[in-house]
Amino acid sequence: MTFRKVTAPGALCLAAGVIVAVSAPQAWDVSTAGRTAVLDALSPTALAAHVGYLASDELQGRATPSAGLDLAAKYIAGEFKKAGLKPVAGESYFQQATFTSRDGTEYHASNVIGILEGSDAKLKDTFILLSAHYDHLGNNPRIEGDSIYNGANDNASGTAGVIQLAHALSKAKPRRSIVFIGFCGEERGLLGSRYYGRNPVVPLKQTICQINLEQIGRFDEVGAPQPVKGSMTGFDFSDVGPLFSKAAQAVGTDIQKHPQNSDAFFSRSDNQSLADLGIPAHTICGAYVFPDYHRPSDHADKLDYKTMATLLKGIAVGVLTIADSDRAPQWNADNPKAAKYLAAWRALHGN
Ligand SMILES: [Zn+2]
Repeated sequence: MTFRKVTAPGALCLAAGVIVAVSAPQAWDVSTAGRTAVLDALSPTALAAHVGYLASDELQGRATPSAGLDLAAKYIAGEFKKAGLKPVAGESYFQQATFTSRDGTEYHASNVIGILEGSDAKLKDTFILLSAHYDHLGNNPRIEGDSIYNGANDNASGTAGVIQLAHALSKAKPRRSIVFIGFCGEERGLLGSRYYGRNPVVPLKQTICQINLEQIGRFDEVGAPQPVKGSMTGFDFSDVGPLFSKAAQAVGTDIQKHPQNSDAFFSRSDNQSLADLGIPAHTICGAYVFPDYHRPSDHADKLDYKTMATLLKGIAVGVLTIADSDRAPQWNADNPKAAKYLAAWRALHGN
C-alpha cells in the first residue's frame, strides 16, 4: 500500500447497515462444488516459492523503475504463459508505460497483463480484473546494514496470489473473462493502475469489477483490532464485500469489514484508479499495517503461507461466483461513501 496520508473517517460505523443494491438481482450462487482442482492449486508451497523469488535480495526491492522490477515483470509474464493466459501485446504480456518524474525526466516501466478467456459466448466479452502491484520501495544505500526493502508482504504476497490464481482459475473454465494484472509504480502513487485506466486493454464499459490483492500474507495488525482472517477495503461500498465474506466462509475462513481500516484504506491501493472510473473495485488484504510495514525487514520468512492459501481459496470462490453469474457487481446506492463511484458508473454507462 502507499505512503499517501488519508483522511480518517470522522465516525466509525460499527453497526452493519442493511445493504440494498440499485435494483434487486438474483442472489449470488456461492459454491465450492466442482472446484476441487482449483482450490488444490492454491497451495502454501507454491505461494512460498513465488514470494521467495520476488522478495529475494536479487530483485533489490523492485523500485519503479529498476533492473529488479524488470526481473519481477519477466517472472510474472513467464508464469502467466505457463498458466496459458493470452498475452495483450502480440506475443508479449507487457503493457509498456512512460512516466515523468518530478524533475521532468522520463522513465519506463511495465504493467504485466494476461487474459483468461471466458467460456460463455456472450459473457466472455465481460471482464473481471484480478490485480496486484508488484513494485516496492527499492534499495536505500543510505541505510546501514540491510538496506533492501524486500516487500515480501507488500506486495510479493499479492503478486504471488495473482500468479497462483492464474494457474488455478485456468482449470475452471469460467463464463466471464478474467484479466490478470501486475501493476508497476503503485508505491509512487498508483502510477501503473492510473496508466491502465487511461489505456485499458479491454473496454472499461465491459469491465464489471476489479479485485485487487495487497498484503495477503500477514495477519498481525498493529494498533487496531485484528482482522479475523481477511479484510476488504470499502467492504460495503458495493455488494462485492458481502459476497466475498460468504465465499471465504465456504472454505473455512472469512473476509470481513475492518471497523477502522476498511474505509480508510480504500484510496490507498490500485482499486482506487478503477473505482474513480466507476468500476466496482476493492482491495483484499490480511493486516493493513503490520510490524514490518515499509521497512527493509518485510521478509519472506515472516509470512503465514497456510492462512494465505486458505484466504486465496476464498478469493477464488468469490471470483468464480462473479465469473459464472449473469449478475454483475453493483455499487451500494445506500452508502453515501459510494455515491461518487456510483455517479462515475452511471457516466460510464450513459445512464
Ligand atoms: Zn502495497
